Amino acid sequence: MDIIVVGGGITGVSAGEWLRRDGHRVTIVDRIAPGDPGQTSYGNAGLLACCAAVPVSTPGVWKKAPGMLLDRDGPLFLRWSYLPKLLPWLLPFLRSGRRGRVEQIAAALLPLIEDSVEQHKALARGTPAERWIRTGEYSYLYADRTAYRRDAFSFDLYRVLGIGWEEREREALLEIDPAIGPAYGFAAVFKDHGWIADPGRYVADLAAWFEAQGGTLRRVEVTDIHPLDGGRAAVVAGGERLEADRVVLAAGAWSARLTRRLGHTAALESERGYHLWLCGPSIRPPHPYMLADAKFVATPMDGTLRCAGLVEFGGLDASASRAPVEFLRRGVRKLYPALEWEGEESWLGHRPSTTDSLPLLGPSPKAPGIVWAFGAQHLGLTMGPKTGRLLADMIGGRMPNIDMAAYRVGRFDR
Ligand SMILES: Cc1cc2nc3c(=O)[nH]c(=O)nc-3n(C[C@H](O)[C@H](O)[C@H](O)COP(=O)(O)OP(=O)(O)OC[C@H]3O[C@@H](n4cnc5c(N)ncnc54)[C@H](O)[C@@H]3O)c2cc1C
Repeated sequence: MDIIVVGGGITGVSAGEWLRRDGHRVTIVDRIAPGDPGQTSYGNAGLLACCAAVPVSTPGVWKKAPGMLLDRDGPLFLRWSYLPKLLPWLLPFLRSGRRGRVEQIAAALLPLIEDSVEQHKALARGTPAERWIRTGEYSYLYADRTAYRRDAFSFDLYRVLGIGWEEREREALLEIDPAIGPAYGFAAVFKDHGWIADPGRYVADLAAWFEAQGGTLRRVEVTDIHPLDGGRAAVVAGGERLEADRVVLAAGAWSARLTRRLGHTAALESERGYHLWLCGPSIRPPHPYMLADAKFVATPMDGTLRCAGLVEFGGLDASASRAPVEFLRRGVRKLYPALEWEGEESWLGHRPSTTDSLPLLGPSPKAPGIVWAFGAQHLGLTMGPKTGRLLADMIGGRMPNIDMAAYRVGRFDR
């Protein structure tokens, strides 16, 4: 088939490459180059978060959120003028934090993330991108055991889902990483995780491989997508109409701008996040740390240290805020009081998040030639290669070996 993939982030490049390996003629269309800082896939924390099945909206979040927003030292930020636009998304998002619903969501997220390291290796094997994959532990750092117990809801759910971890007291932490400051005295350590030592260059390498093996990359903005007769579809890009047997919509947080005419609700919002990327740091963690109080991950990346996370609501168009970056700066000094560095980059990215924290994957019931592939929220890097494989299965008429019902397009339609 002739297939157009809109979006060349980790989702689009993974889908494009698996489709190409299936023998299709694939064109990835993006307004910027794969791996460009304008993509969310460029600046994330790099974590292959095989364990992270518990979504952000959990029981009690609706009670904690207002206090977090007003707290200058909290990890949640809001452009207040954006609140009226946010509410139609925010209310169902908070409603999906009910205990029973979170259990369903976690069970549906798990098959997309649990074998992430293997999925990345399978995608990158034999390509230049392979060199960026690292494997090892992933630790949640807490002030002490009492702080850890406050996250009992998540850890109880991990246990139910069969996800194991090890508890580590401060002495054991210091044996591995003597520079950790006194603010952190306890860790929950997950084994067999992975991370990407430079997510932007990883995506760029995968895309370059895709092109070298016969795929096509086109750098142009898509302004419209519409169905054609016979289950085919077309995109309008740079004033030109491009027709294909299938169009895969993998435009991340911007996808909803292209779905408006397709007759489905996408329930998509940007959960804005930030990174502070330190060059020449005097200290680097041995593996990624999630600072449980500050809600960001500190990841060792190829001689550098990247601190990435936080949530800000403010939409796709507002410029970056200063407060989240300052928050990351204070946070990394709390982790490593003696840390010094030579240079830094700060960055804003847009997580594509649905109200139920599950992606929209598969053909549109109203326009089967258009296949949706977005909404991976905080886990898009983790689930990108698996998502690409599942899409290739669906497009190729092979039954995916997991139940795709939870990700179905049209589930938010009224
Ligand atoms: C601070 C932060 C930390 C994160 N940490 C992690 C982590 O550690 N692990 C993890 O798994 N996930 C993490 N994430 C989430 C992850 O980065 C995203 O879920 C993922 O990158 C989404 O990938 P994508 O390919 O769907 O979207 P993107 O990477 O945003 O790509 C979408 C592409 O579509 C293109 N596009 C959009 N509209 C058009 C158009 N009209 N025409 C042409 N092209 C278009 C854009 O230019 C862009 O290149 C993090 C996110 C943030 C913000």
